[in-house]
Amino acid sequence: MAENIKEQKIALRRLIRQRKKMFSQEQLQQKSQKICEKLHQLLDNINYKHIMLYYPLPDEVDVRPLFDRIQANKCLILPTVLGDDIVPVSFTKDSTFKEGAFHILEPQNDSYSGPIDVILVPGMAFDNKGNRLGRGKGYYDRFLQQHLQTPSIGVCFDFQLLDVVPSEDFDKKVDCVIY
Ligand code: ADP
Ligand code: MG
Repeated sequence: MAENIKEQKIALRRLIRQRKKMFSQEQLQQKSQKICEKLHQLLDNINYKHIMLYYPLPDEVDVRPLFDRIQANKCLILPTVLGDDIVPVSFTKDSTFKEGAFHILEPQNDSYSGPIDVILVPGMAFDNKGNRLGRGKGYYDRFLQQHLQTPSIGVCFDFQLLDVVPSEDFDKKVDCVIY
């Protein structure tokens, strides 16, 4: 049974990679801009101070416009990878970035251990129940397991929303998905 789910996940990751190839970088950028508008509206209507964003890989929704648009009184946080764990690091517009694990850019700041009020979660696929498919290493499953009370917002392109994303015991859902 579990083996079957792992195979389904592998097949769905392949499907999503194929779907992504059908769009140019320009098309993905246009989609990203619309998604950022939606995220901005959503965030404008929730009460938070500390937000964990993510630094996008080339095939992920580009949420970098939010880095600048979020009001200056908020605390911005990005994930960095340390071994098997996501380590949060706060950043500002003056931070310098360096490539970390998996080619993800990471701010060169000290790790952040304060509160996190809302988490943006990238994913290869989501379904409308909030089930999430990642890249297969379980980083966000482990991280969200430590932040069960923190609202989480899945972020993906429309073609990454699937009817059903298969889940195992350790998979963590997001509270809503913006696409
Ligand atoms: P992804 O969520 O990136 O799509 P998977 O859900 O397939 O990846 O998980 C990848 C691996 O991560 C799993 O095989 C599992 O062993 C590990 N994993 C997930 N959550 C945890 C956890 N809370 N503790 C330890 N290992 C975990
Ligand atoms: Mg998972």
